[in-house]
Amino acid sequence: MTEHTGGPPTGTTAISVRDVTRDYRRSRTSLLHASEPVRALRGVSFDVAPGERFGIVGESGCGKSTLLRILSGLDRATSGSVQVEGRDITRLRDRQLRWLRQRLQLVFQDPMSSLDPRMRVRDIVAEPLVAQGRGASRGRVEQLLQAVGLRADAAGRYPHQFSGGQRQRISIARALASTPAILVADEPVSALDVSVRAQVLNLIADLVDELDLTLVFVSHDLSVVRHVCDRVAVMHNGQIVEMGPVADVYDNPQHPYTRKLIAAIPTLTKALSGVTAADLNQETPA
Ligand code: ADP
Ligand code: MG
Repeated sequence: MTEHTGGPPTGTTAISVRDVTRDYRRSRTSLLHASEPVRALRGVSFDVAPGERFGIVGESGCGKSTLLRILSGLDRATSGSVQVEGRDITRLRDRQLRWLRQRLQLVFQDPMSSLDPRMRVRDIVAEPLVAQGRGASRGRVEQLLQAVGLRADAAGRYPHQFSGGQRQRISIARALASTPAILVADEPVSALDVSVRAQVLNLIADLVDELDLTLVFVSHDLSVVRHVCDRVAVMHNGQIVEMGPVADVYDNPQHPYTRKLIAAIPTLTKALSGVTAADLNQETPA
């Protein structure tokens, strides 16, 4: 699984974001009022080092998904710049986008809407490789399925034949197919039953470890970020209001907004910390 190609020059950051803003044009609701843009991001800057697990937390609507879409080339910043492995991706062209797809892959919140229901798992998992003109052998697909804790015979089935947790495992297998260096996850367990969240989280953490990936992990749930990340940025209203090692930010928050978020954490952290990798394969087929 570790056939990384064309790695970054040593010393470069995995991701470097500088003063990124993103304005969305609001649809005009009244003829009397000029439509002011929605400022989804208001000057966001941070670096992520290779191999780091970087978390972004903040309430719904604070701009997390907008930021991830820009990082992964699905959207463009209104101003500012973004580098991935030292390459400027702020104004992507097709060839760079193909390169970015190989180096950086995404896992979305809802595996049901991000997996094509008409495609067999084998084709879903192989899709990124096919898109890059590389193709995927049967053995490679089975290896990927195994890596995410699914049986090889899952390859011949369709997404609806799996549970939510298993579907997210399929998304993860697909994300790993192109042997990316960076995994970007947007609320990857938020749509799952509480009972399987810890398993999928542990799977992500184990794979990031095993494959030496850089992780950018977004969640509105602080306990989830604490469980998998080394460093965390707290976002509020399109800005990072606090950033630091998870232990510092969680145990000694400086910004009033961070304190407010932490005060609202349920006790899920305790439940999560009791779960080990051995629990991974306990999910039964739907
Ligand atoms: P989060 O992922 O943190 O919940 P988003 O990045 O989805 O936040 O949204 C940030 C802000 O930008 C919100 O106010 C949202 O309504 C707005 N927004 C997001 N996408 C669009 C869009 N395509 N068009 C207009 N406004 C958008
Ligand atoms: Mg979001």
